Amino acid sequence: MKNRWNENDAAQFANDPKGMRVYTSRLLGQEPELVLHGGGNTSVKMTTTDFFGDTVETLFVKGSGWDLGTIEEAGFAPERLDVLNRLAEFDSLSDSDMVEQQRIALLDSKAPNASVEAILHALIPFRYVDHTHANAAIAVCNTEDGEQRIRDLYGDRVIVIPYVMPGFALAKLVYQLTKDVDWNAYKGMILMNHGVFTFSDDARESYERMINLVGEAETYLEKRNATKTANAEGKSNNLELAAIRRRVSDIRGLPVVAKFDRSSKAAGYSNLPDLETFATQGPLTPDHSIFAKRIPAILSGTPTTALKSYANDYLAYFERNASEDLTCLDQAPRWAIWPGHGILSFGLNAKNASVISDIANHTSQVVQMAQALGGWKPLDESDVFEVEYWELEQAKLKSNKASPPLQGKIALITDATNEIGSNCVQSLLAQGAAVIALSSDSKIASIINLPACLHLECEIGDAESLDQAMAKAIEAFGGLDILIINDASQAEEVSLLLQAALPFLELGIDPSISILGTNATNAVQSIRLAIGEQSSESIRISAIDPHSQTAYASYRSAKSTEAPLSNETVTRLVTSSASESHS
Ligand SMILES: [Zn+2]
Repeated sequence: MKNRWNENDAAQFANDPKGMRVYTSRLLGQEPELVLHGGGNTSVKMTTTDFFGDTVETLFVKGSGWDLGTIEEAGFAPERLDVLNRLAEFDSLSDSDMVEQQRIALLDSKAPNASVEAILHALIPFRYVDHTHANAAIAVCNTEDGEQRIRDLYGDRVIVIPYVMPGFALAKLVYQLTKDVDWNAYKGMILMNHGVFTFSDDARESYERMINLVGEAETYLEKRNATKTANAEGKSNNLELAAIRRRVSDIRGLPVVAKFDRSSKAAGYSNLPDLETFATQGPLTPDHSIFAKRIPAILSGTPTTALKSYANDYLAYFERNASEDLTCLDQAPRWAIWPGHGILSFGLNAKNASVISDIANHTSQVVQMAQALGGWKPLDESDVFEVEYWELEQAKLKSNKASPPLQGKIALITDATNEIGSNCVQSLLAQGAAVIALSSDSKIASIINLPACLHLECEIGDAESLDQAMAKAIEAFGGLDILIINDASQAEEVSLLLQAALPFLELGIDPSISILGTNATNAVQSIRLAIGEQSSESIRISAIDPHSQTAYASYRSAKSTEAPLSNETVTRLVTSSASESHS
C-alpha cells in the first residue's frame, strides 16, 4: 500500500486541522483498494465557537453523499461531541432515531447528515480517526478462520471487534468492549468482515497507521501466494447482451443500463471452474448489498433461465430472512458473471452501473485472494439481509422521489456535433438517458465531453465504421432504445444505420426512432418498409422537419407552424417523443 503523504503538500495545513483532515481524507480516497464510492469515513475533533460565542467540543465527521477522494471542508458535518457521547449510553436506539438526533446535534443547519458511524468516531479518544474498508484486510477476515488469522497477523497491536451491523449497534458494541481499554496501547481497530480504524492526535500518524496496517495484510497475502488472480480473453456477443439487459429490465420493472466489463480480469473470473460454489456466497462487506445485492447472477446455460432462477432464489432469500413488515425489493440482479465473457453490471443510469461495476470488480479479486488463502467465507446471509433491508434503506423506498423521464433508457444520435444534435444530446442527458453521440467530425471528443455520454467518431455511410461504433455503444450501455437520425437527407445512410441499429432496437425498451431533416417524411415511409409490418407496431417512428412549415409528420400531436422550428423546439419534440409512454 503506497504511502501518499507529501511533506510539501501537507505543510500548508500545519495550523489548520480541518484543512489537514481534508488532505489526508483525500489521500485515503485516492486508493480504490482502501475505499470505494462513498465507503469509509474520517473525522477530526476540534473546539469551535457557536452562535452565542460559547466554546463547543465538536466532531467534524464525513457527511453522507461525499466521497473521501473528492471531499471538501463542506463535506464534514460538525456535530456536538457531548451529544454523540450521550447517545452511546443508550441501551438501544433505532438507527432512524440516531440519524434524527445527529441531525439535531449539528452546529450548521446546512451541513450534510453525519455518517452513521459518527458515534463510533466520537468514542475514539483521539483527534484524528480514519476508517476504510480495505480489500486486503477484508480478504483475510472473510476466510474460514478469519479472526484467528487477524490475531496472528496483528498480535495485540489492534483491538478486534466481532462483526455487528454498522450504525448504533456497532457504536454500542465498541463502547461496551472498550470501556476499560487503554487506547494508547493500540495502533488500530479491526472490525471483522467490515474494515479498519486507525487514530492519533496527529493526522499523519493516523493516516500512516492505516497504510501500514493494510500494507501488512497485503504482505500476509503475498507470502501465502494469495494475490494472483485469473486472466483470460473475454468473448463478446452483443445481441445476447442486449437480450440480457432487456430481461433484467423486465424483472426489475424499469429500464436499466448494463455495463459490460470484458477486461482480462473480469473474463478470467468468469472462466473459473466451480463459480457457483464460491461466487454466490456473499459480498465483501454487507454495505455493498445496498448497491449490488448480496450475490450476483451466474449466467451459465441460457441467460433467460438463469435470470429467472436468480429471481426465484431472491424471493426465497427474502422469505427466509424477512421478519416484521418489510417491503421486498425487486428480484433483478445488480451484477452478473457471464461465463467466458466477463462481468455485467446493471444500474439505473450509467453512473450507477459504473459504481456497481467497481464493486463487482473488487469483489471478484478479493474472493480469489480469500479462496487462495484457505477458502472464501463471507458473513451469513442473515447479516447481509439485515443491512440490505436496513430501516434507513426501507425508508428511502417510501420517499417516492420521481426519477427523470428517460432514466435507464439508451439513446443514439447521429450528427451529434451540429447545433440541433448537441442540443438533443444535452436534453437527453438532462432527462436521465445514457447517450451515444456519433459524428464524422474527428473533434467530437472535444466538442462533446460529458461523463454520461459516449462520444464516437463514425462515418454513417461506411458500414464497417458504423458496426464498430454500434459494438462499442452496446458494450458501454447494454442496448438501444432511442435512435435519433439527425439529418435524413441521405437515403443510403439511413438504410445502413437501420441495418446496424434495428436488431438492437427490437430488443429495446419501448423503442423509438426520430428522424430529423427535410426528407424526414420520405424517410419515415422507407423506414416503415424496412422494419416491415410486424415490428413497426412496437417501434414508434416520428419525423420532424425543422425547415418546413408543416413541421413534422407522423408525430401524434402534430400541428403546423408558421415559421421554421427553433432548435429548442426540435430538441423538445425529439426527446418528448422518446419519453412518451406507450399507449
Ligand atoms: Zn465502515
